Amino acid sequence: MAKTALITGITGQDGYYLSKLLREKGYQVAGLIPPQRQASVAKLGELANQIKVCPVELTDSKALLQVVAQLHPDEIYNLAAPSFVPDSWKDPLGTLDLVTGTATRLLDAVREVGIPTRFYQASSSEMFGNVDRDPQDENTPFRPKNPYAAAKLHAHWTMVHHRSRYNLFACSGILYNHESPRRPPSFVTRKVTLTAAKIKLGLSDRLEMGNLDAKRDWGYAGDHVEAMWRMLQADEPEDYVIGTGKLHAVRELVATAFECVDLNWEQYVQVNPKFFRPDEHFQLVADPTKAKTNLGWEPQVSFEALIEKMVKKDLEYLQAKNF
Ligand code: GDP
Repeated sequence: MAKTALITGITGQDGYYLSKLLREKGYQVAGLIPPQRQASVAKLGELANQIKVCPVELTDSKALLQVVAQLHPDEIYNLAAPSFVPDSWKDPLGTLDLVTGTATRLLDAVREVGIPTRFYQASSSEMFGNVDRDPQDENTPFRPKNPYAAAKLHAHWTMVHHRSRYNLFACSGILYNHESPRRPPSFVTRKVTLTAAKIKLGLSDRLEMGNLDAKRDWGYAGDHVEAMWRMLQADEPEDYVIGTGKLHAVRELVATAFECVDLNWEQYVQVNPKFFRPDEHFQLVADPTKAKTNLGWEPQVSFEALIEKMVKKDLEYLQAKNF
């Protein structure tokens, strides 16, 4: 019989790539979407009509319990989060409720219904925050530096406690930045690829950037969701650091994107202090050895190939919009 997976945050970037992967593997896929945002399932494009939409507020414990009791999902992937980190300062309590509250309510539902559901918690490299060593692995201490990271850490520990106390199959994937053509333009990769494509097509004439020396471990979202799935197929529930293990500077990102459209970035890029972030950490880089050893997981798409993929899609998108 086909397996069933239940996903929160299904209309986001990772929700799309994970749904695609699971459908290819023959899963029935259901997504928890707040009732007033049901129409957002359209964001899943060609996948939208292959998904069962469960209109439920993630803050509604009773409704979540009902869905879990009805669906008896084999796997739950808890991806829902306000993904743009700086926004969490505007609403720390709302961030905590969405991130930690949803994880806790879903774990409680699994425990109460008493089914052997496997649970994936989307954790984040942001939990490492103020790092004193690089690269980071599963034993690196957490020092979160913003409300988003603190909420993710709370959810992570809640999952760990449920796993040990109730013997649930629950895992946490500590993911580093992962990008794709589906990344919103508030993120630096998509901002750069979209603007490079616009400049190429004569739709813009400059790109205003923040700190060009900032560095990130950027991977491809399609690779990272594969790791999520592999974690839930393992013999034992364990937590994993998932990233490429390679750091690239924003400057390299900009140069690579402009190279894809045969332009010299230095003619178009202006640095604007408005985009600088206070209190930045530049040494967040993964040591994904455990994922490679235990899960056989390795990133397949290089940094350069990822940026090229994004620029190409942005050119296609803009051309389709214009004509
Ligand atoms: P984050 O790792 O979740 O914060 O992902 P982002 O894509 O938003 O930012 C990655 C890095 O790019 C951060 O270190 C920013 O300081 C840096 N950066 C430099 N210029 C920009 C910019 O114009 N926009 C954004 N979003 N980030 C920028």
